[in-house]
Amino acid sequence: MSSAVTTQISELQNYVNGAWQRAAATEYVDVTNPATAEVLARTPLSTSADVDAAVQAAVDAFAGWRRTPPGERVQYLFKLKNLLEDQLDELARIITLENGKTFAEARAELRRAIENVEVACGIPIMMQGYNLEDVTPGVDEMQIRQPLGVVAAIVPFNFPAMVSYWFLPYAIACGNTFILKPSERVPLSMHRAFELLEKTGLPKGVVNLVNGGRDVVNALCDHPQVRAISFVGSTPVAKHVYTRSAASGKRMQCQGGAKNHVVVLPDADMDLATQVISDSAFGCAGQRCLAVSVAVTIGEAQKSFRDSIAHAASTIRVGNGLDVGVQMGPVITKESKQRIESLISAGVGEGARPIVDGRNAKIPKYESGNFLTPTILDRLPSTSQLANTEIFGPVLSLIHASSIDEAMEFLRRSPYGNQASLFTTSGSAARRFRYEAPAGNIGINIGVAAPMAYFPFSGWKESFFGILHGQGRDSVEFFTESKIVVERWSRQETRKF
Ligand code: NAD
Repeated sequence: MSSAVTTQISELQNYVNGAWQRAAATEYVDVTNPATAEVLARTPLSTSADVDAAVQAAVDAFAGWRRTPPGERVQYLFKLKNLLEDQLDELARIITLENGKTFAEARAELRRAIENVEVACGIPIMMQGYNLEDVTPGVDEMQIRQPLGVVAAIVPFNFPAMVSYWFLPYAIACGNTFILKPSERVPLSMHRAFELLEKTGLPKGVVNLVNGGRDVVNALCDHPQVRAISFVGSTPVAKHVYTRSAASGKRMQCQGGAKNHVVVLPDADMDLATQVISDSAFGCAGQRCLAVSVAVTIGEAQKSFRDSIAHAASTIRVGNGLDVGVQMGPVITKESKQRIESLISAGVGEGARPIVDGRNAKIPKYESGNFLTPTILDRLPSTSQLANTEIFGPVLSLIHASSIDEAMEFLRRSPYGNQASLFTTSGSAARRFRYEAPAGNIGINIGVAAPMAYFPFSGWKESFFGILHGQGRDSVEFFTESKIVVERWSRQETRKF
């Protein structure tokens, strides 16, 4: 497949008030293909003036958009779904070019994005309130849901398209106007998505795109007319955005980093466990917030699982995600590659054995790419620093425990709570795990327990700050304000008719 970007852009523009505009930026970040080091475009680091222009456009659009009936609002989303389906392969290619994941992974990401558009098309039902007649004789009471106003989303590099769709469709279907700040490292997919949004004929100002980095984020957090922020990224930035936005009274949902555990019991179907855990740990080069990062084996599972996962890891085909047959792409930047390699070395320094070692990988034809191959660190001490450090790369650590109690204790000590999985054929072990595991997304014989769009994407502890999550019913509650009306009409009035 060709590696040229079809969207002919070198310096990206913002989309504000229904038009593409140059940012008032003086600094730029190169968007680089992680497999080839080719520079694809330049992201402007927009300023607070650019943010202000987008907020103003969104404020102006809000009055008309909230009065547009929900049934009409979702017509634009039906159009968007069709455009996304038509452009699926082109969009997937852009994702692979800027992020490095394989073409198949990029297509799968887009399917999840489209699923959120489909669910948001149900807003005329999902947004309904409830009521009760005669709370006292002749008095009725109702709850209605109203949009908040201007809302914004700030998203990470690892899903250049999907994460924005956890928020955008629900926000606008509920009658809000919306501002997106994509990751400055992978802005091309959402640039293309906004070209498609433009084609739907959405009124100007309903959706706006501001490219940039930290300054844009801080300006959004501080802006008095932004009512809510959805954030997805690393834990330190999630905490920063949560506290800074709280200072200006915003509603927040901030999804942070992760360190996900899988517990493998000796009664598990080892072939299934190996295949699914290998996909989870090394898919998207381990750059998924639901990637399994630590496998805790119990009893005899230690040897059988270690041998089979080592074999699986060492046979994964690594390369340019656009090449046929490639199963794992590069990591996002040279700095990420160095950070991951030094964390592997730190784990070895803490006593782990690298039974499959992906450091210093060289991929023929792609010597400039940011490649590592899968790594397995056996016998990582459960008390080591690495055991609780997010690596965000293709590294699986193995820890042995003598019982489920010991494994659970280990999970409880983790600062993160995005996902925990169990592999077993025992129903009672599965029930106990579901009941006790301290994480927001639980997998039973599942490696990536990613909730479908009609369920919220949960997350606990340092993996989530807020109350209402993205997707599903939580999304509708997050993007609307609840209003209670208590109503009495005089009987005199009724008698007139
Ligand atoms: P990141 O935190 O570096 O960046 C996320 C966003 O914050 C970007 O848009 C970036 O421009 C902005 N940002 C970065 N530094 C900032 C700062 N100092 N001040 C203000 N804004 C700043 O995250 P990333 O590297 O793009 O993504 C990877 C991280 O995201 C991992 O930790 C991963 O676990 C997490 N993640 C979590 C979920 C989830 O659902 N919990 C999903 C995807 C990714």
